[in-house]
Amino acid sequence: MDRRNFIRSSLSAALAASFPGTQALAASLVHMPTTIPSNIDAITGDGAEITLQKAAVQELSDSLKGKLLLPGSSAYDKARWLLQERYDRHPALIVQPTGSADVQNAVDFARDNSLLLAVKCGGHSASGKSSCDKGLQIDLSQLRHARVDRSTKTARIAGGSLLGELDHEAMSHGLVTTAGSVSHTGVGGLTLGGGFGRLGRRFGMTIDNVLEMDVVTPDGKLRRVNANNDPDLYWALRGGGGNFGVVTSFLFQLHEMQRDVVTGFIGYPLSETKQILEFFAQYAEKMPDEMNISASVGGRLGQKPIAGISFVWSGDPAKADKYIEPLRKAGTVAFERITTMDYVAVQRSGDNNDTRAFTGHMKSGFVNALTSKLISTVVDNFEIHPDRATRFSFGQLGGAIGRVDNADTAFAHRDADFNLMSFVSWKSTSDPEEHIKYIKSHWSNVERFSRGFYVNDDFGQSSELVSATYRDNFPRLLKIKQKYDPTNLFRLNANIRTV
Ligand SMILES: Cc1cc2nc3c(=O)[nH]c(=O)nc-3n(C[C@H](O)[C@H](O)[C@H](O)COP(=O)(O)OP(=O)(O)OC[C@H]3O[C@@H](n4cnc5c(N)ncnc54)[C@H](O)[C@@H]3O)c2cc1C
Repeated sequence: MDRRNFIRSSLSAALAASFPGTQALAASLVHMPTTIPSNIDAITGDGAEITLQKAAVQELSDSLKGKLLLPGSSAYDKARWLLQERYDRHPALIVQPTGSADVQNAVDFARDNSLLLAVKCGGHSASGKSSCDKGLQIDLSQLRHARVDRSTKTARIAGGSLLGELDHEAMSHGLVTTAGSVSHTGVGGLTLGGGFGRLGRRFGMTIDNVLEMDVVTPDGKLRRVNANNDPDLYWALRGGGGNFGVVTSFLFQLHEMQRDVVTGFIGYPLSETKQILEFFAQYAEKMPDEMNISASVGGRLGQKPIAGISFVWSGDPAKADKYIEPLRKAGTVAFERITTMDYVAVQRSGDNNDTRAFTGHMKSGFVNALTSKLISTVVDNFEIHPDRATRFSFGQLGGAIGRVDNADTAFAHRDADFNLMSFVSWKSTSDPEEHIKYIKSHWSNVERFSRGFYVNDDFGQSSELVSATYRDNFPRLLKIKQKYDPTNLFRLNANIRTV
C-alpha cells in the first residue's frame, strides 16, 4: 500500500475505533475509493483497443480524493451528460477531481496509457468533445468555486465553475468581468476559446481579463501560468481552447459596474428583414462601448420567425434612450420589450431559451462588414419549414475587443466586426438529417463572406479550417503545442494537430 492510501485507511480505522459505530461517519469524512471489479476495455487517442488492468485502475482510484466513476451508476450518467444530448457518449471511466492533485493523477494515467482523453466543465461543447466513448473523461463538476478579492478587484475561479458563479459572486461586490450570455455555460470552455459576452465591447473578451491560470499540462505538472511564468503558454491558452492541459483555476480582472443595465429586444416583420439588417449594419458602427447590440432573423421552435435587434446598455441607465429611440424607427415595430434589470438576472435570462441550448446544428464565422450582398445571401436563402426553427444572428465585436492586437493572444479575429451564427433546431419527431442538410447548404452560400470561425462553436471542423482560423497565430500555436503536448493527448477540441 502506498503512503497516501496507508494514511487514508489508518485515518478511517482510527476514527471508527475511537467512536464505535461511526464507520458510516468515517466513510463520509474520508474518501472511500471505488472498488474496480475487473479489467476495463478502453481506447487510445488513436482509436486502438486496449485493456486497462484492474490493478492499475484501482491504483488510480486509490490515488484520488475525488471519485472514479464506472458505467452503471447514476453519478456516471450525470457526469457524462452533455447539453447536446444527441452526443450520448460512454467513457470507459470518469474521474471527478476535487482539486489539481486529482487532475494530475488523471492526466498521468491517461498519458501513461495513451488513453483518449476528454475534459468537461459546463458540458456545452457544440461538437460533444467534452465526453468520449471508451476513453477517460475528466469531469470538473466538483471543482466549482468563486472567491472575489475586493481590494485587488480580482476573482479566483475554480476550473470547473459555471459562468453564473462568476457573475453572482463578482456582482455582490459591485464588480463584473466579461462572461457569456447563458449562466450554465462553463467558465473553462468559454474562456479558453475566447469568451464573448454582453460586456465584451466595454471590458474586452473574457481572455483579456485572465491574469493567471493554474494548469495541469500533459506531462502532469501543475503550472501557475501568467505573463511572467510560462508566458508562451499564457498566450496560447487565451484563445487556443483545450489544447494545452486542464485549467484548474483562473484569476480574472474585475471592473466596477452598477447593478442595473437596460436590456431589450425589438421585433420587426420578417418582410422587413433586409431593411432592418441594412439599418443595423450602419447603426452598429456608431455604438459606444457600453452598447452591446446584435441582429437576428428567425426564431425558436413554435415561434413565428421575425427580424429583431437585441441590446444591452451597460452604461448609465439614464443615457440609454438616446441609443434605443432610433431602433424604433428602423422599421415597423411588431414587438418591443425594453426593461431596466439587474445585470446578474440578465445574465440568467437566456438560461432556458437560448437557441444554442436546443438540439440542433450550427455554422458560424467571423465577418468583416455586413454588406448588402451578404444580407441578400442570408435573407434569400432563409426557408421557413414546419418542423424546424432557423435563426441567423450577427453578434457585434469591436470596442475593447478590437483594441487588442491579433498577435497579443491566440484569438486571431480582433479585426472582425461580427460573428455570424446560423443555427437550426428541429422537432424531436422529425429527421435531423434534412435540417442539417439545409443549414449546410445555406452556409455553403454564406461561407465566402466569412473568414475563420469561433473555436468555441466547433462542430468538428477540419484541421485545415482550424489552422486557417488561427491565421498568423497558427505557427506560434503549433510550436507551443509541440512543446507542451507533443503526443496530442489533448485532442478532443478544435485541435492543433501535432501528430
Ligand atoms: C447555450 C449556449 C450559450 C453560449 N453562449 C456563449 C456566449 O455568450 N459567449 C461565448 O463566447 N460562447 C458562448 N457559447 C459557446 C461556448 O463558449 C462553448 O460551447 C464552450 O465550449 C462551452 O464551455 P463549457 O465549459 O460549458 O463546455 P464543455 O463542453 O464542458 O467544454 C468544452 C471544451 O472546453 C475545454 N475545457 C473546458 N473546461 C476546461 C478546463 N477547465 N481546462 C481545459 N479545457 C477545458 C475542453 O476542450 C472541452 O472539450 C454558448 C454555448 C451554448 C451552448
